[in-house]
Amino acid sequence: MGLREAEALVRRLMPALQRHGQWITHIHTTLICRTPPRPEDLAVNSHLQTEMGRWFAEEDEKYILRHPQHRVAYESWLEQHARARALCRAVAANEPIPPADYEAFADSIRRFDDTMEVLVRELWDLLLHTDPLTGIATRTGMLPHLRAAHERTRHAGHACSICMIDLDHFKSINDAYGHAAGDRVLSAVSAFLVRNLRHNDHVCRYGGEEFVLMLPNTDPPQALELVERLRRELTELPVVLDDGRILHVTASFGIAPMTPEHSVRETIAMADQAMYAAKQAGRNQVCVWQDA
Ligand code: GH3
Ligand code: MG
Ligand code: MG
Repeated sequence: MGLREAEALVRRLMPALQRHGQWITHIHTTLICRTPPRPEDLAVNSHLQTEMGRWFAEEDEKYILRHPQHRVAYESWLEQHARARALCRAVAANEPIPPADYEAFADSIRRFDDTMEVLVRELWDLLLHTDPLTGIATRTGMLPHLRAAHERTRHAGHACSICMIDLDHFKSINDAYGHAAGDRVLSAVSAFLVRNLRHNDHVCRYGGEEFVLMLPNTDPPQALELVERLRRELTELPVVLDDGRILHVTASFGIAPMTPEHSVRETIAMADQAMYAAKQAGRNQVCVWQDA
């Protein structure tokens, strides 16, 4: 699911959740104050007419439909309505409410809330950690992967290389063709990097025209070979502008190994140093970090 789909999903889900919260308040008022229930509180199918009911019926985003928590949310939502209906009938008939029945209703509310919290938190994480221009992870989105790789290096000795990528003379692209063209380049380079990821690799937009690649199970010599191929292929990547003009870009690459001695932050600084050496050496090059 992309950023746009996630945003649209949040925009459909949040109002439904808000209305659902209002419905729960209304049911509680009925139960506590023993006010006469509304016809829809007693009708068998009226939950289907609620915003939450419409969301469950109409939501077609596969990410959410396939999510294991979706079924739990749906079932606990159905249960809330069934239990609320029974409690409201007791109020309408002026009968007492057995505490166990109320507790079962409260349980179904808790289950639904816990489930929705997981789903909504995942959606927010996705929105917060995805770069809106390129659709790839931001640096904070990449951080958990970097930390996990660092743990594997520390505890199991797994190799992992980090590569800092910085586009060459990017400012002059903005200056010559405009900011929109620069944006187009960033999107095209991001898509190029994503296309070239292997199964466990990760990429993020680290800053303006800087990207970080994480290459697990890859030592610096292997990373050098892989990144050298990326560097070469990037020079051939056509970036098509709105007016049909085609741009080509190059980048400078710096590789550093993850080691038990260096923190994630230090490793990125090392990759950055190596990238800077590639700039100094004339750009459009790959350098591997070397201990001074
Ligand atoms: P070098 O080869 O030394 O890296 O030169 P450079 O021009 O790439 O580097 P510099 O740091 O001088 O310029 C980076 C430029 O990237 C400046 C900034 O305006 C541009 N930039 C940063 N973020 C964005 C963005 O989101 N869109 C566009 N179009 N430009 C951006
Ligand atoms: Mg830069
Ligand atoms: Mg640059």
